[in-house]
Amino acid sequence: MSVLIVGSTALDSIKTPRAENPRLLGGSASHAAVAASFFAPVKMVGIVGKDFPKRYIQLYRKHKIDLEGLQIAEGKTFHWSGEYEVNMNNRRTLETELGVFETFTPHLPRSYQNSPFVLLANIAPSLQHHVLDQMRRPKFVVADTMDLWLNIAMADLLKLIKRVDGFVLNESEARQLTKEDNLVNAAKKLHKLGPKYVIVKKGEHGAILSGPKGLFISPAYPLPHVVDPTGAGDSFVGGMMGYLSTAKGSIDSNLRRAMIYGSVVASFCCEGFGLNFTTRVTRKAIEKRVKELEALVKF
Ligand code: AMP
Repeated sequence: MSVLIVGSTALDSIKTPRAENPRLLGGSASHAAVAASFFAPVKMVGIVGKDFPKRYIQLYRKHKIDLEGLQIAEGKTFHWSGEYEVNMNNRRTLETELGVFETFTPHLPRSYQNSPFVLLANIAPSLQHHVLDQMRRPKFVVADTMDLWLNIAMADLLKLIKRVDGFVLNESEARQLTKEDNLVNAAKKLHKLGPKYVIVKKGEHGAILSGPKGLFISPAYPLPHVVDPTGAGDSFVGGMMGYLSTAKGSIDSNLRRAMIYGSVVASFCCEGFGLNFTTRVTRKAIEKRVKELEALVKF
């Protein structure tokens, strides 16, 4: 089964205490699509400008990502630049240039409209709505978001949460949205807003799932050296959706394992700048880390 992914398709300029890398392939959709592609066919929706390097298109193709829904428009590709502090957990956005995203209206090709699994990766909630409006009864829809939309598009976001099966956000966003410090209580409040499944990402401390089967704690794979965590959250949710779309059985019985797969793909993402490391990973390497993670949490 295929996964449809909409989100940002970007050029990222990233600065860490050790290095600086301009104009890497980035964006929530790019990270999520590559992560999902290890498990399932992916259909991507996004927009880039005429300045988007051809080698990045080739990289999507290497991962067999369907690009019929990728618009190439006059103008500049969305550009985001950010800088990490020494501990690599705190990030500061230096600049966001919307470029072609300013006038973006996602149009879903016919072949996309029956996709059973839909990931509304981080992008303006109005665009996430627009994609969902064009879908024919998807089986499982998950939305991700970021603090920006909580600050400038809360009404749209609240409407969107009502329409999705799963909602993914990081812990500070969960606290901000619910005005609740305790994450267990924050998850309860988020369920009241609509979604059956709530996933709170906690960076290097993994993620918490709250759903009909109760709580589940998914660990992050312990890395001795983080090169660049940009896109780890997108890789997590992309890997999770990719795995979920191919697993036999109900969502309920597969979601926990799917989160472990997401965690593992996210760990690879952190080991290189942008998508540099993720795009060199193999399914075999993913399976090996999943086994290691399983052993780490068994008691
Ligand atoms: P993450 O590290 O998982 O939070 O995601 C980082 C990615 O988000 C980068 O590749 C950026 O290109 C992308 N990004 C940053 N700001 C925005 C925004 N306002 N809308 C959509 N994507 C963004």
